[in-house]
Amino acid sequence: MIMECKKCKRPLTKGTKYKTCENCRGKKAQGIKDAGKALLAAGGTLALFVVTKGKFNPKGK
Ligand SMILES: [Zn+2]
Repeated sequence: MIMECKKCKRPLTKGTKYKTCENCRGKKAQGIKDAGKALLAAGGTLALFVVTKGKFNPKGK
């Protein structure tokens, strides 16, 4: 019996322990990478915001 990918119904590699094909798992991994990039970008923006605020508002306290 050939296992099929749960998402795209493509035949899975024999003996694979995954329920989705490499293609679908690759997309998922890419999504995690993108999320990491977005998180880094958000962190960078926050750092920039803090620095900029410090420059524009030296009398903060
Ligand atoms: Zn698939």
